[in-house]
Amino acid sequence: MIDLRSDTVTRPTAEMRRAMYEAEVGDDVYGEDPTVNRLQEMAAEMMGKEDALLVVSGTMGNQTAVLTHTRPGTEVILEQDSHIFYYEAAAASVFAGVQLRPLKGHRGALSAEQVEEAIREDDIHLPPTALICLENTHNRAGGTVIPLKTMQAVYEVALKHNLPLHLDGARIFNAAIALGVKASELAACATTVQFCLSKGLGAPIGSILVGPRAWIAEARRWRKRLGGGMRQAGIIAAAGIVALTTMVDRLAEDHANARFLADGLAGMPGLEFDPSTVETNIVIFKPVSMSANALLEELKKRGVLGVIMEPDRVRFTTNKDITRSDLEKVLTALHDILR
Ligand SMILES: *Cc1c(COP(=O)(O)O)cnc(C)c1O
Repeated sequence: MIDLRSDTVTRPTAEMRRAMYEAEVGDDVYGEDPTVNRLQEMAAEMMGKEDALLVVSGTMGNQTAVLTHTRPGTEVILEQDSHIFYYEAAAASVFAGVQLRPLKGHRGALSAEQVEEAIREDDIHLPPTALICLENTHNRAGGTVIPLKTMQAVYEVALKHNLPLHLDGARIFNAAIALGVKASELAACATTVQFCLSKGLGAPIGSILVGPRAWIAEARRWRKRLGGGMRQAGIIAAAGIVALTTMVDRLAEDHANARFLADGLAGMPGLEFDPSTVETNIVIFKPVSMSANALLEELKKRGVLGVIMEPDRVRFTTNKDITRSDLEKVLTALHDILR
């Protein structure tokens, strides 16, 4: 199967498996796992933040961030197609008891002006704004990149209003590579950042939260409350270290492959597709001659997997386990189906 459903389907590399096998471990709830500590130091340094925390998943990282930044009855400003709003099963309402204030972005990006307009006045009728969230790259918008200038402008608004800004940087390295900047330059536009080790970077499990030291200490308590205090987590962290040291730069290959796919889709009949939305490793298009579900069924018969992006679009995500010749086969299959 040519599996383009996500970059989460990537298998750990041989080097990761070896590092996991050989990992030096301890009890991380006591702060005694040397491999976890090494990963957290490395992650904090790469992002230019004081401290870092290994969490089980991106969702746990984002929710730990919301819990640590807010209290019940406050409001969080975010983009209406963001992962925190769309794909986390209302966790922010369930656990943090916050109200989410979704705003419509342009290709996933919120402007500084619209964020500032949404910040609440001090009025007894209104929930106090407690947090602003951004997502870069933006998943549902198609892996689109928020430019550094936009990030900086929103962060300035946050600072002016004394509000924290959390960046859902599940794919922050994809964003950094596409922009030609360091991930730390993007992280510098946020109070805290979550990023995934288990997507394009290929690690089997894990995400990282980075931020100020005292904030991470509080986040550690929330992680424990959520059941995310792990013991010999060095087994996981060892793969994370390999991910950060060997898998970041090669994400450029995934971008080039997504571009190749986009160029192939561009002229195809029976599709609605804007190739300019393809900036990183995600390609989203809408079939017009058949439903997205029917197209995915036909593709599956030909050995190709993608996912539905509701309401009626198809998403392909390139990743380290996908080659150029795989993508040639995908384009041939599509030609065959849509002809
Ligand atoms: C995948 C993803 C997450 C969540 O990560 P999980 O590890 O699947 O929980 C969060 N935000 C974005 C933008 C994502 O793409």
